[in-house]
Amino acid sequence: MSKRDYYEVLGVGKNASEDDIKKAYRKLARQYHPDINKDNPDAEGKFKEATEAYEVLSDQEKRARYDQFGHADPGAGGFGGGTDGFGGFGDIFDMFFGGGGRQRGPQRGADLQYNLQISFMEAAKGVEKELDIPRTEECPTCHGSGAKAGTHPETCSVCRGTGTQEQVLNTPLGRMVNRRPCSACGGDGKIIKHPCTQCRGAGTVKVRKKINVKVPAGVDTGNRIRISGAGEAGDKGAPPGDLYIVVYVQADDFFERDGDDIFCRVPITIVQAALGDEIEVPTLDGKVKLRIPEGTQTGTSFRLRGKGMPRVNSTYQGDQHVRVVVMTPTDLTDSQRELLRKLGDEIGVKPSEQHRSFFERVKDAAKDALNWE
Ligand SMILES: [Zn+2]
Ligand SMILES: [Zn+2]
Repeated sequence: MSKRDYYEVLGVGKNASEDDIKKAYRKLARQYHPDINKDNPDAEGKFKEATEAYEVLSDQEKRARYDQFGHADPGAGGFGGGTDGFGGFGDIFDMFFGGGGRQRGPQRGADLQYNLQISFMEAAKGVEKELDIPRTEECPTCHGSGAKAGTHPETCSVCRGTGTQEQVLNTPLGRMVNRRPCSACGGDGKIIKHPCTQCRGAGTVKVRKKINVKVPAGVDTGNRIRISGAGEAGDKGAPPGDLYIVVYVQADDFFERDGDDIFCRVPITIVQAALGDEIEVPTLDGKVKLRIPEGTQTGTSFRLRGKGMPRVNSTYQGDQHVRVVVMTPTDLTDSQRELLRKLGDEIGVKPSEQHRSFFERVKDAAKDALNWE
């Protein structure tokens, strides 16, 4: 099981003050202290988890290292849990969505989804986009507490701050303890008597947040980029959700894509096809020269190695396939017609014969392919 984020454990935001952290820890310590939770087997683990989180986040130096490296702090020995490291930047490319069951804990903010349309060339080269995301954030006036300036949420007297009410039932099977969220405070453990005027006690406000996202080269339609912590604000200082950016790549007029490979068609003249030529072909990296050999048939495909799509998070690049299409000349002048007629006489092939020979060639190719006799 991966380790929970320390901020999430304490139910505070990434920019929580030392005081917030202390308060959050005290609350959890009171709630889960083993001495007062003899019949709650989960409490000891929760207490230890909170204590470990507090030890790191209450120490300025340890907290700075944790913010930078997460649980995978190389200085703390060994790469561990695979923590994302909140950078506010799209540094994590994640094709995996959902991630199974969410860990229980403070009410984490909801995840957001943003559909991002990019051009074919942006997908090929990678692009940095500034997104304008409507989301909720911790209220700047009350810092998520929901209480009016100069006041504090008061500990709920009904549940004594635990947020849960216990009901002991005597049943034929013995005593059963039924736990449910406190009805007086809704499970918060706190009562706001004087709500904050900006957020009306919600602790969060609606904003439009500008977020920079790095879309890596090689992305394809349906790929998702996760930006950790850029979702909706958590409940009363709990950690925010994540932002998922779903990529849609627009079709290109010239290139078509299949996985890492790209395909295009290039017209050539009947003369280039017959005599051979060197032509210029557009690629993702600009034009390159391509040698067309003498006697090239229409539909012949040439491969440009390593000129396809880059693969995300890899140095591999696919191939570009160039299919040549021989254009039959149109709008001929009288003298051009005469030249072609002469050419026809010279070659000495009537259309019907040409047809037959073409048909023979196709049959031969099919025999080769299927290994016929
Ligand atoms: Zn507020
Ligand atoms: Zn209560």
